[in-house]
Amino acid sequence: MQFIDLKKQYASIENRMNERIQQVLDHQKFIMGPEVFELEERLADYVGVKHCISCANGTDALIMPLMAYGIGEGDAIFVPAFTFFATAECVSVVGATPVFVDVEEDSFNLDPIKLEQAIEKVVKENKLSPKGIIPVDLFGLSADYESINKIAKKDDLFVLEDAAQSFGGTYRKAKNCSHVDVAATSFFPAKPLGCYGDGGAIFTDNDELAEILQSIRVHGKGDHKYENVRIGLNSRLDTLQAAVLLSKMDIFNEELRARQWVASEYNERLKDFFDVPHLPTDEQCAWAQYTLKSSSSEERDFLMEELGKHGIPTMIYYPKAIHLQEAYTELGYQLGDFPVSEKLSQVVFSLPMHPYLSRDEIERICEALIASKNNL
Ligand SMILES: *Cc1c(COP(=O)(O)O)cnc(C)c1O
Repeated sequence: MQFIDLKKQYASIENRMNERIQQVLDHQKFIMGPEVFELEERLADYVGVKHCISCANGTDALIMPLMAYGIGEGDAIFVPAFTFFATAECVSVVGATPVFVDVEEDSFNLDPIKLEQAIEKVVKENKLSPKGIIPVDLFGLSADYESINKIAKKDDLFVLEDAAQSFGGTYRKAKNCSHVDVAATSFFPAKPLGCYGDGGAIFTDNDELAEILQSIRVHGKGDHKYENVRIGLNSRLDTLQAAVLLSKMDIFNEELRARQWVASEYNERLKDFFDVPHLPTDEQCAWAQYTLKSSSSEERDFLMEELGKHGIPTMIYYPKAIHLQEAYTELGYQLGDFPVSEKLSQVVFSLPMHPYLSRDEIERICEALIASKNNL
């Protein structure tokens, strides 16, 4: 059994995928070929925003908007303490300071009340100037944008959605990547919409921002390729990856529905034994991961080991809260600063989640998990 089964996915789209790739091999426009622009148009349309700017990976998709906003030393950007490292790393890469905020235990996402407190604290201390917020749609579930946008407006902060795990999902019936000033997603192979290497994209309705982002992704180019008007990056999406993504877009909505079905099957079987994840019924969660909470880290070790004996792969996203990572030692955070994030890192574990899981596999996983829990 695979944790994420990309081979089964490929088998279901082999012909159209091979055709798309062959077209690129035929025209040989490997950098910014026609597939890149076709994909950008298709994704902007899908999300319902004016601009999609594709780029080399999801981390660059977070860095580039910060560069475009001129974020740097002395600026504070608020990020959740429980997320993938890149959410905070992008802030440090541009020279600004990530200010961590605890998450909600049920949604795994940024806690708006604690966000307000964190902003107040930074304002009071008067050392850093608050500039923006990067909420994450962790495991595919949208953050609380209504509350976050209100707070951002009040304090004049921009909001950059980290939708690396939530592309295709919705919030208040609108697709993720359309709720805030600017959004970033990732096409890393294991994400809900993944390519066959690294890839990412930025979404915005802001014309001016879009133009700056297009310049940044090609070394800060001006009107001409060899005229440079700002410091940028080399961060283009490969034409081959755009071709891969275009063929996967054909089945993406079907896949999202299948993920929703897998999650509801899991919830139904596990709800009497575990604190199962929130299953939005009138919204689409992108279900990048299906994550459960054990009652202790010892129980987690035991359950994961037992599942392993049955050939069932599990993963821990994430075993260490970001404020406790060695890379951020100098920021001076301590154990106890963000109790929810710290607790989650001790107890969460994720089950296999992909659109090609069968009812039999789901049954096997749940039976093994429940039997192990009863053996404790
Ligand atoms: C994967 C991920 C990223 C980074 O994406 P890459 O394409 O791997 O650079 C950023 N944030 C979150 C929450 C992610 O899961």
